Amino acid sequence: MKGFDNTPPASPWGINFGGGLNSTAMIIECRRRNLRPDWILFADTGSERPETIEHVRRMQQWCEGWQNIHIVRWKRTKGDILGFEPLHENCLRTNHLPSKAYGLAGCTSKWKIQPMEKWRKANGFDEGAFAVGYDADEHRRIKSACERGDDPNFIAWYPLVAWHIGRQECETICTSQGMTVIKSSCFMCPNMKRQEWMQLKNTHPKLFDIAVKIEENAAAHGNKGRDELGLYNGMGLRNIEQYSTGDLFEASETVEDRCHHGGCFT
Ligand code: SF4
Repeated sequence: MKGFDNTPPASPWGINFGGGLNSTAMIIECRRRNLRPDWILFADTGSERPETIEHVRRMQQWCEGWQNIHIVRWKRTKGDILGFEPLHENCLRTNHLPSKAYGLAGCTSKWKIQPMEKWRKANGFDEGAFAVGYDADEHRRIKSACERGDDPNFIAWYPLVAWHIGRQECETICTSQGMTVIKSSCFMCPNMKRQEWMQLKNTHPKLFDIAVKIEENAAAHGNKGRDELGLYNGMGLRNIEQYSTGDLFEASETVEDRCHHGGCFT
């Protein structure tokens, strides 16, 4: 099956870099195997954690002389707001949560996938393949990605799966290059687990406060999210310390169904 070949299934091909552990390991491993992509893209939502942006810069340096990592952003060309608007600012302006909270994929699609597509078109890459950093342990995520199908002009390639590289091996590969990589996602992503929210609260209290504001603002405007869950479990991020670990939400499917193809959480 093409998406699971050992080598890129089409040419030209590139890498959708998510700024996280898996896609970092994928880039390192591609280089080690002399598989040089024609492009590497990181889509910045404007709401990434500072550590992720720092890591992307570090990876840009690591890739120097091999292949550039281009940072792309979604820019509006119509409407009241023109140009780039960070996702969290958009949430505050429109009184909504990121669309993932409503069971939709608009935030990934607009802030992650579309700017990558635009860059590829502008640079003459209208077809081929792109590598996605799902690892060999992510059976569920891979299954749903396959069921969804690929971009009609591109084949999604899952090299970590083809090479039998799981999460633990990704850690080892990154550590071998002296890299500690945190989970990448927007700081106010509705797919975050309690532990991730707590970490945000402790390390970036200002960003946590913005997330609380987004959640409370959306609720005040009647836009609470699927199953009234808000950004976390419906009881309010403000009170997160009161929830026990391993609550019901942690086991729900929503946590597992992370973003596809655009690079969130890879
Ligand atoms: S990380 Fe979360 S909030 Fe950000 S674009 Fe992806 S699904 Fe949306």
